[in-house]
Order: sequence, then structure tokens, then C-alpha cells
Amino acid sequence: MLYHPLHIRVIIAVICIDMKSNKSPRRQKSTPTNPSLRVGSSYSNSTRLRLSDRPLEAVCRAILPIGSAVGDVRANTEALKRYLTYQPSYIDMAVRFGAVTMNLSSRILTGRSLYDATPEERERVIASLTRTTLGSNAMEGLKALILLAAGAEMATSEIMEISRKASIERPDATLDVTPSIAWSNGRRFDVIVVGSGAGGAMAAMEMAEAGMNVAVIEEGRRWTVEEFRTIHPLDRFAGLYRDGGSTTALGQPPVVLPIGRAVGGTTVVNSGTCYKTPKDVLLHWRDDAGLTLADPDDFMSLLDRVWEIVKVGPVPLDVMGTNGRTIMKGAEKLNWSTGPLDRNAPGCGGTCQCAIGCPKNAKYGVHLNALPAACAAGARIISEARVSRLLIEGEQVVGVEATRTDGSVFRVFAPKVVIAAGTTETPLLLRRSGLGGHPMIGKNMAIHPAIGVAGRFEENITAWHGVLQSAYVDQLHEEHGILMEATSTPPGMGSMILPGFGHRLVAEMERADHLATLGGMVADLSVGRVIGRNRATLIYNLSRRDGKRLMEAVRGSAKVLLSAGATEILTGIPGQPPVHNDQELDDVISRSDPRTLHIAAFHPVGTVAAGSDPERFPVDPSGALRGLQGAWVADGSLMPTCPGVNPQITIMAMALAVAGNIIEQG
Ligand SMILES: Cc1cc2nc3c(=O)[nH]c(=O)nc-3n(C[C@H](O)[C@H](O)[C@H](O)COP(=O)(O)OP(=O)(O)OC[C@H]3O[C@@H](n4cnc5c(N)ncnc54)[C@H](O)[C@@H]3O)c2cc1C
Repeated sequence: MLYHPLHIRVIIAVICIDMKSNKSPRRQKSTPTNPSLRVGSSYSNSTRLRLSDRPLEAVCRAILPIGSAVGDVRANTEALKRYLTYQPSYIDMAVRFGAVTMNLSSRILTGRSLYDATPEERERVIASLTRTTLGSNAMEGLKALILLAAGAEMATSEIMEISRKASIERPDATLDVTPSIAWSNGRRFDVIVVGSGAGGAMAAMEMAEAGMNVAVIEEGRRWTVEEFRTIHPLDRFAGLYRDGGSTTALGQPPVVLPIGRAVGGTTVVNSGTCYKTPKDVLLHWRDDAGLTLADPDDFMSLLDRVWEIVKVGPVPLDVMGTNGRTIMKGAEKLNWSTGPLDRNAPGCGGTCQCAIGCPKNAKYGVHLNALPAACAAGARIISEARVSRLLIEGEQVVGVEATRTDGSVFRVFAPKVVIAAGTTETPLLLRRSGLGGHPMIGKNMAIHPAIGVAGRFEENITAWHGVLQSAYVDQLHEEHGILMEATSTPPGMGSMILPGFGHRLVAEMERADHLATLGGMVADLSVGRVIGRNRATLIYNLSRRDGKRLMEAVRGSAKVLLSAGATEILTGIPGQPPVHNDQELDDVISRSDPRTLHIAAFHPVGTVAAGSDPERFPVDPSGALRGLQGAWVADGSLMPTCPGVNPQITIMAMALAVAGNIIEQG
């Protein structure tokens, strides 16, 4: 207890300082693009507050001490330091402050600094700090960062070898991309699309193919397949995601919510799983929200079109890998509905690297289909440019202002702007443009929260040899909104699911190749919100109903793994022991609080939702932003509710519908 109030206060102070910076536009930290920054490269941000690195090393030693599955502590510390250079300053400072306070706690508890403490003393310090929920959350946060950085470092040679051996399925697409630094001020277009992800790319393609002169402005940069084969996995991860992948929704419990930032948006890093919007969801959107574009009769044909464009097909069993096959076996034995997932990854070789850029170019994100089609029809892409605001004259949008990576500003003019910056960024752009007045802008956020459960098997599973997301179990979907998907992570980068700290954690890592992993997502109520103008602060408090459902997702996932022959289940519920049968599982679940769960989310939607009621919905049913002529929205933020399935295909189809309305309007 001694440690927590002070720790939390400082973190809050640091977050407040950072939020204050929301009031004035701040230069975006740019992703290093120099191709010489390859494996093992490092770069630092000299403006950062630099406390000594020694406490960091001590924390790495305490959380991940030496063991056969663990690399050198100093190398792990260096990897963590490198990863921190990609983080927003408040994360960097919070981690360093956490390290310093852990060292102080060690002095109080053991009379020695954490650095000089014995392994047993370090474990005592951790045990004392994890006694409260708050302390446990802080320690789990530190552990996640260390394991991600160290895991990527340790698995580098394996990842590189897999990448090198994998043949390239298709060359990089021909794109007309100009980095903003080389783009001149004042060019005119028929329409500007802000953001080149799932929604923006499809809208751009549709409008360019209809003969419109289209500019796409994207904050991220273009990545090549060669880079996905040669750059250090940690630099790929940190470079491909906003804030180095550390986006977290604040609340109880905090939720890790990574968001892509690249030409191609989050589709460059997503798992490639494809679902058509369930019909009951479309009917609900049409009838409750008055979202006419979701009328199943028309929308189904758009879904079919997207399905063709991104070449969706089932995961082949011989590529799937043991993880997916084990999950399917477990579900089949229970008589539960299961099968290979549909994915947009023709030629996938099961390299398990979707989340850090496919080294085969097999995963068919929009950078490989819709964007090249848009460019072939004349669209231009301006990369590494953050649109800071819409330019407005009277009630009419006339263009956008954007910031280059060197901080300079340029303008692009058009009488129509399609905003597709993603669920967490679109509300911010509207606020920066003076358009944040509607009370529902930034609210109504659903995230499709997810838990992960692991089962230990006698036999070797090596979950990362095969397709990252490979098989579904949808037995509990229709009735309870719970969708389970066999999901692994790139080699070395998934140890966060393992329980414990110190020697226990190392022991778990040494037998991680015997674990199969299954994730469960819950169709949630839309209770989150996005605040801020320049940096998104996400707030999300799990509702009681969704907490219960997540616990049911844990139960369902564990049952599948037990049925497949797992000898032990790591439920992922902090502080709870592994379970070995249904009875123990029920006991653990009945005494656990959902607010302690480790939750991640990958599907935020709903923050600028579309519908017929002007009071409830900032966007009208055609996709046009209310209160301004010429502005449209075409990304995940449009959805009135969580779609209950992985959302990329729905977002793409909605964007085609919005683009169709723009074209029709002339
Ligand atoms: C790790 C991970 C795995 C996932 N797996 C799946 C999956 O298997 N199946 C599935 O259906 N979904 C998956 N998703 C979710 C899916 O990829 C997203 O829902 C979808 O890409 C969102 O589309 P979007 O157009 O709303 O935003 P995005 O695709 O995120 O695109 C928004 C783009 O706008 C850019 N941008 C933001 N602000 C600005 C600005 N001010 N100026 C210029 N550009 C800006 C961003 O850099 C970004 O590139 C996954 C997500 C993650 C993070």
C-alpha cells in the first residue's frame, strides 16, 4: 500500500500533463523510415526525462530472471529501452517511475535496492506489490511491456528465419504514394479521404473508379514486404501501431487496445479474419437506428463484393497449424459448432506474423487491393501527413489542413471530405475542426472485449507454427454474443498470457510450446468514450452484463481446451491457480471478479455513429456528417453498435455504401 497512492498520483499527474498538451497541436512523433534502421537498430528521444536505466534493469531482472528460455537480462533491458522510445512520453515516464518506486519498495522491504537484492528478496517485493488490484494492474502493465520487448528480442532469429524461408506470395502493389515532405501546398481534388484503412481505402477506390479525382491523406507510412522480412520484429510492431502499440482504455479493468497506423491502416496488422455482418445485427441497425444503408437486401450484396475484392477463403487445414486443429478437436468432442475461419489471406503460409506485417504479402489488406485499384483509377496517396483539421467556409467543407513529419503545415482543397481516420481518431479530428458539438461524438464506443485462455498439453503444440488466427468456435455466439477464435501471437510475443513473475514466469516460458491458446470476444454494450483533441484518451468501464459474459467466455474456452485433452488450464484470471477439470474451473470462476480480468480489444466502433435520429446520431443514414455540407464518415466509428463479429468486412462494405451515396449525389 505504501507504494500505490504515490505511484498512481504520479501516473495521473503525468497523464494530466499529457492531456494538457491536447489543448495545443503537438508535433507527431514520426516513425523512423530510414531503411538502415534494421535489426538491432536503436534511436532515442533526447527530449525525454531520463532517469537512470539501472532501476529498469533491476525490474527486468526481477520480472524475467535468467533461465534457459530467457535471454540475457541486459539485452532484454536494452530491448525494453528501445521499445520505450516509441511510446508516448507518459508511458515512458510511468514505466521509469514504476521502476524507481519498485526499487524504493525493495529498500523498504529488504534494506537493499532491487538491483542488489537476492532473487528471493525480489520475489518478496513483487509479492507485496501485487497484493492490491491497483498494484497488480501496474505490475502486469510492466510485465506486459517487458515480455513484449524481451520476447521479440529473444525470438528475432526464429522470426527472421521463418520470414527468409517463406516465399513471397505477391509483390508489393503499385501505389501512387508521395510522402508529405515531398508534397506541395494548395493542390485541388474532387474529394479528400482522411485515412487509408479498411474504410478509407474502399471509399477511395469506389470514388476514383467512378471518375472522381481523389486524394487519400494518411498519417502512417508505406511499408514494403522487404521490410517485413528484414526489420527487427520489435521495430515492426512499434512502427506499425499508433503509440508503439501501447494504446490502453482507462477504466476497470484497463483494456489494451492496439490500433494500426500505416498506408493500409489497421488492415496491415490485423489477423485477416473475415465475417459478414450477421443479419440480425443489420436488422437491428436498420430498425432501431434507422440506418437505411444497413438494409440487408442491399448490404448483403456489398458484403459479397468486399468478400471477392479481398479474396476471402477458409484457412486450409494443412496450413492452419496444431493450435487451430487442437481447438477444433476440442469443440468437436463437445459437439460444439466449429471450423476453420474465413480469412483474406490467399497463399498464407502460416508464418504467424500478421500482427507485425506479413513477410509473404499473403494477407490481403487494403494496401494490396483497394488502394492499388484507387491509384490505378488516378487517386493520389499522401503519406506521413496528419490531418489536423477540416477547412470550412460557412456551412461547407472546402479542404483540409495537415501536418508533415517535420512539423510544417500544408493544405489540400476539395468540396468533399470523407473522414476515415478510425474509431479513436475520427472524433478528435471533428473536435479539432470545431465540429465536436454533437453530444454523441466520441461516445457510444463498443470495443468487442476479449480474454485469452491457454491449455497445457502433453504433446508439443508450438502455437506460433501456423496461422495466427485460425479456427472459430461459435457455439455460444447466437445466444450469448460470445465468439471464440483460436489465436496465437508472433513467436515470442505472446508470453503475457503466462501467469506469475520471476522464476515461476520463466518456468512457464520454458514450456510455452506445450500451450494451445483460445481467445473469446463478447459483443458488448457501447459504454466507452474517446476524449481529447490531439491525443485520444479512451475510457471504458466494463458493464456487469459484459463482465459476466467475459467470465462465460473464459469458461467456454477452458471447456474446449479440456475437451481437447489439456492437462491444465491457465485461465488468465490474475491470482487464480491453474485448473484441471470442470469443478475447479467453476470454483475459480465463481470466486473471481470480472474487473480483475486481463482484457484486450481490437475492434473499437461507434464513436460517430450513423442513424436517423439527429439527437442520437451525429451522422445521417447516408453517411453524411450532420451540420456541415460535404463531410462524410466512412470508418468503424459509423457503426451504431458492436457488430458481434470481427468488423473489417462490415466497415469496408459500409464505406462502399457511403461512397456510393457520394457518387450519386454528384
Ligand atoms: C491486432 C489487430 C488484429 C485485428 N484483426 C482483425 C481481424 O482478424 N478481422 C477483422 O475483421 N478485424 C480485425 N481487426 C480490426 C480491423 O482491422 C479494424 O476494425 C479496421 O481496420 C478499422 O478500419 P477503419 O477504417 O475504421 O480504421 P483503420 O483501418 O485503423 O484506418 C484508419 C487510418 O487512418 C489514419 N489516420 C488516423 N488519424 C489520421 C489523421 N488525423 N490524418 C491522417 N490519417 C489519419 C490511421 O493512421 C489509419 O491508417 C484487428 C485489429 C487489430 C489491432
